Amino acid sequence: MVGRIVHVPCLKCHQEELEAGRLPSLKSYEILTPDTGIALFECNQHHHNAVLIQEQTFEILLELAIENLVDKYYREAIFNFAAAQERCFEFFCELISFEKQISADNFSQCWKIYKNSSERQLGAFYFLYLMRFNVPFEYNQKKSELRNNVIHKGEIATKDNAFEYGIYILNNIYNIIEAITENISPKILNEFISKKNTEKSSKINGKYYISTLSASILSWQVATPKELEQEKLLQQYSKLHPQEYAHKVAEANKLGKKILNIDYNGNLIIVDAPDPNLKKIDGHYVGRKSLDELIENVTQIKNHYTLTKSGNVECASVIDCTNI
Ligand SMILES: [Zn+2]
Repeated sequence: MVGRIVHVPCLKCHQEELEAGRLPSLKSYEILTPDTGIALFECNQHHHNAVLIQEQTFEILLELAIENLVDKYYREAIFNFAAAQERCFEFFCELISFEKQISADNFSQCWKIYKNSSERQLGAFYFLYLMRFNVPFEYNQKKSELRNNVIHKGEIATKDNAFEYGIYILNNIYNIIEAITENISPKILNEFISKKNTEKSSKINGKYYISTLSASILSWQVATPKELEQEKLLQQYSKLHPQEYAHKVAEANKLGKKILNIDYNGNLIIVDAPDPNLKKIDGHYVGRKSLDELIENVTQIKNHYTLTKSGNVECASVIDCTNI
């Protein structure tokens, strides 16, 4: 996924080809991600598809902002960076309410008051952050002036403006993800994300073939020093013995809930995967990337999409989903 553009196959066509003993064709459909997180489209065989976008809205907006930088739309980049931060604040407030076992209805009723004001959302986030982690969130009020000049005073943003603001917002978002992943129980976080996805899928009626898509440019990975060491050893091993490594990966995937490790004798072994709901005692957030690295990622995805589009991508017949 890059920004709002997604290339996806028709799930039903894919299933039918497999059942008929054929290799599924590479044909896919180009769709745009709607705000609901559910993209509905009809393939050229008239199958109705629903694609659940599992990324949070702030992750999609951040991708859009970075795509704007790649395309040199600097004013639009600032708009999208600002929106990504606001939606990240909302995500945080909703998560903390969920952790405190506040019902979704009560949260929605309360959030209505904040929804239409950036300053109110900042205030709600700032105090909830303080109450939850006992330290204030480091927030640079001066950077809001840059945003306000572009958004409210019609100032035409320069490349330097957009990059300065982008680095600042990215750092804020990473700080929030770091605070969440290192302090909030993974069980709570997983239940919260799963609840949000269930809410989305419950809106889709039975005639749709439902598939899910998750390809955020942001990583939520927490790792222990031991796991990081294993990652290094596995990389080295896969370069030295690529065939054996690929074979073991397939074996581990088949077994389910297994991962690869290198033992004390330097052998490749299959071990139990850690429980995703258990907090890693000496774990740290390891997903941070620089803006330049994310720009490189988005550029690669865009190039890939341009190449695939030249052969196998068709325009989907998008179904209006404003009422779901
Ligand atoms: Zn189809």
